[in-house]
Order: sequence, then structure tokens, then C-alpha cells
Amino acid sequence: MSPDQLVRPEILRLNAYHVPDAHGLVKLDAMENPYRLPTELARELGSVLAGTAINRYPDPRADGLKVVMRRAFAIPAQLEILLGNGSDELIQILALALARPGATLLSVEPSFIMYRLIAEFCGMRYVGVPLTPDFALDEAAMLEAIAVHKPALVFLAYPNNPTGNTFDRAVMERIIHVTPGLVVVDEAYHAFAGGLSFLDDVPRHDNLLVMRTVSKLGLAGLRLGYLAGPRAWIAEFDKVRLPYNVGVLTQQAARLALEHVSVLEQQAACIVAERVRLVQTLRALPGVQVYDSVANFLLLRLAGAADVFEGLKRRGVLVKSLHGAHPLLTDCLRVTVGTPDENGLFLDALKAELDTRS
Ligand SMILES: *Cc1c(COP(=O)(O)O)cnc(C)c1O
Repeated sequence: MSPDQLVRPEILRLNAYHVPDAHGLVKLDAMENPYRLPTELARELGSVLAGTAINRYPDPRADGLKVVMRRAFAIPAQLEILLGNGSDELIQILALALARPGATLLSVEPSFIMYRLIAEFCGMRYVGVPLTPDFALDEAAMLEAIAVHKPALVFLAYPNNPTGNTFDRAVMERIIHVTPGLVVVDEAYHAFAGGLSFLDDVPRHDNLLVMRTVSKLGLAGLRLGYLAGPRAWIAEFDKVRLPYNVGVLTQQAARLALEHVSVLEQQAACIVAERVRLVQTLRALPGVQVYDSVANFLLLRLAGAADVFEGLKRRGVLVKSLHGAHPLLTDCLRVTVGTPDENGLFLDALKAELDTRS
């Protein structure tokens, strides 16, 4: 017997999610915060974790952590929250719960690829509506697709990955208004977006939820995301969540780190300042187009991007090549904003690459 006799055809067709080997490279490919916890807080974390009973199952509802998260992220009191093993797991929980036969998950393209992948894992139909060439929402195309496909679930990343921009709020409001299903605004990059958010708008709608993660804020290794929304919805999704999906070490570590969320916010502010500096420097380079970003990464377009990607890697810097990922991303690279030193190494490597080409 072979896998193709038993595995679902849509799974057989998928390629496994590829994580490149970053060993020995300056890692600017995955939107991680480059900064560690300050020494004193790291020591405290060590003693908190040493005192944690790993022989016991975690608190299944993580109530203690939720209290700290509500405070750290100013989550409106009338909203319920659901925690996930990363926000990827929350996308999966939503899709599992809403995957009635024929149900559609709709998003825009290019955007976060897990929306499409998870729709396929869960047996939902997937519809991707192209953004305009400047990566804005194509309102007419969105309204048309929503009318035709009647999606049960719409994901809008705000700011969007991999483009780094936000969408027009009024257009988003109209999309929320006409969507017959749920709209989830994915605010993975909230910490870098200067306060732009839909969280305070959730109570005004009956089909809007906001999803966030602590990954890009500096805790990617913990795997923790949250979904904030109306109680009745969260109660249904909570049934799909596997018990103990957030481990005890993650709960304890996140509690401590988020009790000191200002430390992470200061790191985010440094990253934003670096982003501004990096944009200025990159825009001075001939032949490099830099898109405006309110996230912790930049989207660049330059001739021969796939070769430049390989050249950067040979020079010790790993970014993400998006060439070939979508027609709107031809010759695009995505670079995560790192420390000033890392960004300097990236700029030196890029200049050297451009020199060999001119
Ligand atoms: C990184 C990212 C996520 C996933 O975050 P995790 O919590 O690490 O699973 C979700 N949405 C977008 C748009 C992202 O870029």
C-alpha cells in the first residue's frame, strides 16, 4: 500500500511548508524580533520555569495568562479570548469549526499563505482575490467575490504580510458589512503599526474578530496567539481547541514576559526606528524599489531578485525571496528589520551584490 491510496488527494497535492536552514546566517527571513529578553528578566524567567510543575498538565483555560494578556493588550472587557499554539493554530480552529460541506474561506493575494494551506487541510474551498498592483484592496473585486462565493470566513491581514501595508479602513468596514460569514482581522504586526487596529471595533459588529500573536513582538519561540471576539463565537471555537493546547512553560513564560510588556514594546519601537532608517538607505540605492511598511519587514523590488537572494545568502544574509510566489511579487524580496548591526550587514551585502551586477 502507498500513501496515494489513503491520503486525501488535496493533501497529496500540497508541498510541505518549507523552512529554510538559517544556520550561520544573519536571519532576516521570518519577522522575528532580533532582541532577547534583558539579562535580569531572563534570569527571572529561569527561576519561574524551574519552579513550574511540568509533571502536571497545564491550566486548560490558562485563566492566569489571560488576565495578564487582557491588561497587556488592552482587550475590551466585553470580548472573550481564545488562546492558540501560535495564531496558526487559531486559523486552523476557525477553519475546522466552519468547514461545513462547500464552505468557503476567502482572503486576498498576495497575503499570508497559511490561510490557503489551512483551508485545504480542513476541506474548505479557498478563494484568493488579487490585490491591486499597489497592494490595496480591490474593492469591486472583493464585493463581487463575496457576493458570488458567500464566504463563511474572510481573513484580512492588517498590516498585510508580505506587503507590509495596511488596507483602507472604510473599504474594510464595507467588506465586514457585506460578508455573510465571519471576518477575522489578523493583526500579527500590530506592535509595529503605530496603533492601527480593529480591536476596539469588534464590539460594534456581530461578525468581526481580531487575531494577534506574540510571535512578531519577541516571543516567537513560545507559540502563542489569541483571538478576541464575541462570547458566543469564541464558545463554539473553544470546543474545537484541543485540551492543553498551550503548554505550561509557554503559559508561565508568556505571563512573565507580558507582565513586562513595555520591555517588548521598547524593542518594537527600536525596530520601527530601524525600519525608517533602512527605508531611507534603501531608497538611495539605484534600481531598488522599497514599498511603504508599517510592519517589521520591508518589501523590495529589484531586477534579478531571485539571483540577488542567492547572492545575499552566499554573503551570509538570509532574506525571503517572493519571486514566483505570486504574479504581483515578481522580483520581490522581503527583508525582516533586524538589529542595527544585522541591517548594516544586509545593506553591505546588498550593495556588494548590486555592484557585481552593474
Ligand atoms: C507570522 C504570521 C502569523 C502566524 O503567527 P504565529 O502566531 O507565529 O503562528 C499569522 N498571521 C500573519 C499575517 C503572520 O505574518
